[in-house]
Amino acid sequence: MKCCYCQKPIIKNLTIKELVQQKKSVELCWECAKLFTPLSIENRCDGCQKSLLKSESKSTHSQKTFCTDCLYWQERYPTYDFCHQSFFKYDEAMQTWFQQYKFIGDIRLAGTFAKQWQSLPKRFPDYRFCPIPLSNERLAQRGFNQVSQMLKVSGVTFQLLLKRVKHHSAQAQHSRAKRLAMPQPFALCVDPEQIKQCKILLIDDVYTTGQTLFHAASCLAEHQPTKIRTFSLAR
Ligand SMILES: [Zn+2]
Ligand SMILES: [Zn+2]
Repeated sequence: MKCCYCQKPIIKNLTIKELVQQKKSVELCWECAKLFTPLSIENRCDGCQKSLLKSESKSTHSQKTFCTDCLYWQERYPTYDFCHQSFFKYDEAMQTWFQQYKFIGDIRLAGTFAKQWQSLPKRFPDYRFCPIPLSNERLAQRGFNQVSQMLKVSGVTFQLLLKRVKHHSAQAQHSRAKRLAMPQPFALCVDPEQIKQCKILLIDDVYTTGQTLFHAASCLAEHQPTKIRTFSLAR
């Protein structure tokens, strides 16, 4: 068995199940696993999990603490009870990994965080998992949806409920102000009845401004799901 990031062999005793199934390599070696920093819960915004300095903390009537970004979102989307969670910090190691997986398009890395993704159905037991879709242009360019691919390799069931209606050039190329001003890029691609009274977990790769997820959530919200939570690999 090889580490799915550095490709070095992992020496371990395989279980009978692993031997029989001859599972694809979806494991990280010990050295690669410690490269990434899990997000701690302490001193974090209750909306988006951003780490807060004491001076930044602003408590609201609900005893929760929100960052200034989330207070802005609450003003823009007053009826949406926003709560975002992530596995890891988007630090240098994570950026390097994204560079190889997403931008170079090394699909072999899709299994790097399989262990984490496999924990998601337990954390959100009655939710339907919906990855953020790519535009057709982007999908053709990269060859795979980076979120769907990770879920697929991890054996986590998901469904694309949304499609992109317009192609925008890569987020990174826009300023924050420009990104925030973008019009709704999503439309529902399933029968609205399918999401009525459902709980939905929207999944993205990285949380940056939150705009993408807010657009996606507000598109779904029109069709009366009971709850929409959001999740990303890193933030
Ligand atoms: Zn490794
Ligand atoms: Zn926040």
